[in-house]
Amino acid sequence: MTVAEQTSRPGTPTFVDGHLVSSSPATGGEVGRIPVTDPDAVRSAVEKARAASAWWAALGYSGRRTRLLAWRALIVQRMDELADLMHRENGKPSDDAMLEVLITVHHLDWAAKKAAKVLGPRRVPSGLLAANIAASLEYAPLGVIGVIGPWNYPVFTPMGSIAYALAAGNAVVFKPSEYTPLIGQWLVDTFAEVVPEHPVFVGVYGGGETGAALTTSGVDKIAFTGSTATGKKIMAAAAQTLTPVLIECGGKDPLLVDADADLDAAADAAVWGGMSNGGQTCIGTERVYVHEAVYEPFLAKLTAAAKNVTPGEAPDALYGPATMPSQLDVIRRHVDDALARGGKAVVGGAESVSGPFVGPVVLTDVPEDSAAVQEETFGPTLTVSKVRDMDEAVERANGTSYGLGAAVFSKRRGVELARRIRSGMTAVNSVISFASVAALPFGGVGDSGFGRIHGEDGLREFTRPKAIARQRFALPLAIYSFTRTDSTNSLLARTMKTLYGKGAPKR
Ligand code: NAD
Repeated sequence: MTVAEQTSRPGTPTFVDGHLVSSSPATGGEVGRIPVTDPDAVRSAVEKARAASAWWAALGYSGRRTRLLAWRALIVQRMDELADLMHRENGKPSDDAMLEVLITVHHLDWAAKKAAKVLGPRRVPSGLLAANIAASLEYAPLGVIGVIGPWNYPVFTPMGSIAYALAAGNAVVFKPSEYTPLIGQWLVDTFAEVVPEHPVFVGVYGGGETGAALTTSGVDKIAFTGSTATGKKIMAAAAQTLTPVLIECGGKDPLLVDADADLDAAADAAVWGGMSNGGQTCIGTERVYVHEAVYEPFLAKLTAAAKNVTPGEAPDALYGPATMPSQLDVIRRHVDDALARGGKAVVGGAESVSGPFVGPVVLTDVPEDSAAVQEETFGPTLTVSKVRDMDEAVERANGTSYGLGAAVFSKRRGVELARRIRSGMTAVNSVISFASVAALPFGGVGDSGFGRIHGEDGLREFTRPKAIARQRFALPLAIYSFTRTDSTNSLLARTMKTLYGKGAPKR
C-alpha cells in the first residue's frame, strides 16, 4: 500500500495537491503540510549539495566545529518549540521528546569536538620494510550523504547519521519519514540559520518514492534507518551504482535476569525498556528471559509495575499513541497468535490493542517460535519466559534473526553474559544506556543491519581512509624497481627468514 492509498486511518500521512499532509497520530488533526520533492528535484538537491560539500569540507575541522556547536546551541534554545512539534507530529509526550533532544545534542557536541582527533592526519609506524617512508593516515569526507530516516525517534535517529556525517566534512540530503516530515524540516531550517552560505544540509520530502529517488540520485553513501524490509530494497537499488550503504534496521531486544539480579531494578528496566515510547523503540525490550530461581518474584514485580503504565494524549502522559497506525495490525497479530498458541496475558490482552493508544501487554508461556518472540512487534508488549540457567537465556536471546541491542541484569556475571549475546550493544544492569554514550558505536548484526553510527566508528563511517606514504630518502638498495639485483634479493630472503621464519612446526 502506498502512502497515497493509506487514507483511512487518522495519523496516516496523505498527499494533497503535491503536498505531504502530516497529521497527529493522537487526534488525526493536520499538523502541517510540505511540498513533495519529485525525483528531478531530489537529483537537483543532491547536485547543489555536492557543490556545497566542497565549501563545507574546505572549512576544515575547526570551521565546522564552530558552526555545528552554534547549531547545537540554537537547538537547545528552541527545544521547547521542537519538543512541542515532536509531541504534535509523532505523538510522544513532551518530556520524552525533551530527553530525545538532550541525547541528540550530546551526540552533536561530541561529533563536532572529536572529528579532528579521530579523522585528522596522523603518522603511523612505517615498519622495517619501509624505514625510509613517512606513513600517514587521514579520513577524507565522502561528499554527499543521503540520510533516510524513520518516525519513531525523528530527531535522535537521523541525527546519529546527520551530525556525524556533517562533522566528518560531508554535505547531507535528508529524507525524513513521511510520518514526521515537519520535524525533519525543523532540523534543516535551524541548520540553515547557522550555515546560511550554502545548502550543506537540505531536506527532500515525501514517501518511499522520494527515498528511492534519493538512493539512486548519485549520493556517495546512503545512511538508512528503518525496517529490515525497506533496508533490503535500498541495498538492492544501491547495488546498481555500487553506492555504499549503512543499514540500521529493527530489533527484537532481549533482557536477561540472572538469579542474583536486583529484581526491582530489572523489573523497572523491563517495563521502561518495553513500554516507553509505546514500545516503538528499535532498541526497546521485547523479550525477557528470567532465571527460574527468581521467575515468580520477578514476574510479580513486573506485572505490578506494568499495570501502572498508561498511555494518553496529554503532553505529560507516560507514552503516546501508535505513531504509524498500520503498526496496530502487527501488534494485534502478535498478541492474538501468542494467546491462540497457549500464551497467557498477565497484563492487558487482545483488548489492549485498539488504536490509537495501545495499553501495555505482558505475555507469558509464549512458544519460542511464535511471531511475538521472533518478529519485531514495535508495541508496548513484553514476552516473559522462564529459563533453567543463564546458558539457556543466552541461547534463546540469540535465537532470532535480529541482533541490535540487549540488556543483562546480573550482579556477578553481567559483562560475561553481555559478551555472549549476539548484538551490537548490550547494557548491563540498565537498559538502553549505551545510546547516550556518545563514544560507543551503535548498530546491529543480522536482520538489524550493519555499519555504525555514533562514536569513532560512526565518524569513520562517513569517510574514506586516505593513506599517504612519503619517501623521506632513497634506500641504497633498489627494491621497488627493475634495477633490483640478485644480492638484494638474497638479502631480502635472509631478512624474511630472520624476521618471520621462526616458530614453524618442526618437520
Ligand atoms: P520504514 O522502513 O517503513 O521507512 C523508513 C524510511 O524509508 C522512511 O523515510 C520511508 O519513507 C523510507 N522508504 C520506504 N520505502 C523506501 C524505498 N523503497 N527506498 C528508499 N526509502 C524508502 O521504517 P519506519 O516504519 O519508518 O521505521 C520503523 C523501523 O525502523 C523499525 O523497524 C525500527 O526498529 C527501525 N529503527 C531502527 C533504528 C536503528 O538504529 N537500528 C532506529 C530507529 C528505528
